[in-house]
Amino acid sequence: MQGKVYLIGAGPGDPELLTLKAARVLGECDVLLVDDLVNRAVLAHARPDARLIEVGKRGGCVSTPQAFITRLMLRHARQGRIVGRLKGGDPFIFGRGGEEIEALRQAGVTHEVINGITAGLAAATAAGIPLTHRDCCRGVTMLTGHTQEGGEPDWAGYARLDTTLVIYMGMRHLDSMVQGLLQAGRAGHTPAAVIAHATLPQEQRLSTTLARLADDAHRHGMDSPAIVVIGEVAGLALPQTVVSMLAA
Ligand code: SAH
Repeated sequence: MQGKVYLIGAGPGDPELLTLKAARVLGECDVLLVDDLVNRAVLAHARPDARLIEVGKRGGCVSTPQAFITRLMLRHARQGRIVGRLKGGDPFIFGRGGEEIEALRQAGVTHEVINGITAGLAAATAAGIPLTHRDCCRGVTMLTGHTQEGGEPDWAGYARLDTTLVIYMGMRHLDSMVQGLLQAGRAGHTPAAVIAHATLPQEQRLSTTLARLADDAHRHGMDSPAIVVIGEVAGLALPQTVVSMLAA
């Protein structure tokens, strides 16, 4: 008897932002493979006897290789278990969900993906930023601040888009991101925001402009995980400059 694998979006941090479906499915799992951006509070929905395997793989930290995680997932499913692969945010947004379902499809293992609220959406909302607004932008672009090859994204290409930019994993390349966008013609006074640890008690928010983004973020010690929002709508952010909820 074959089991099943669920790729489960755990949401951005606040355990109340978990979907009802994710909570139900969590309660069915025999084995849980948990990424490190997942707030452990969501495990309150898991069975007390579920086996928990930590498989964190944050950039720069000690990580579990993707191939090993995939093998683990397949092995438990083939042994008839219900496997929950818990990922921060949404499994299909910069979460390697695509790679994992390819492996599951190839192996013929039954699987299902459960959406989570992705950090880009949650961070914008936490900062009071509507990502679309018919007065000033025609859409949203979600992008990563670094590429798989370690190279730089095509900032000039993104600068030409008439959309709000929502940047994941961008904190290590803020300087070149700002330079790239400015050189490509994005105005220095374009509003920008950084939201770190969004929806968690240690959330920090910074409102600034594109020209000052890198300096301000460094000066205020904004760290990962963080979302950067660039575009007119970032000007609608809550009025505070840096708000540390811990300091408040
Ligand atoms: N699948 C996840 C993204 C994983 S990539 C999702 O859909 O949200 C990891 C990046 O997500 C981090 O570098 C950061 O840019 C962003 N991120 C995740 N959790 C966050 C949080 N609570 N606050 C701000 N950014 C977050």
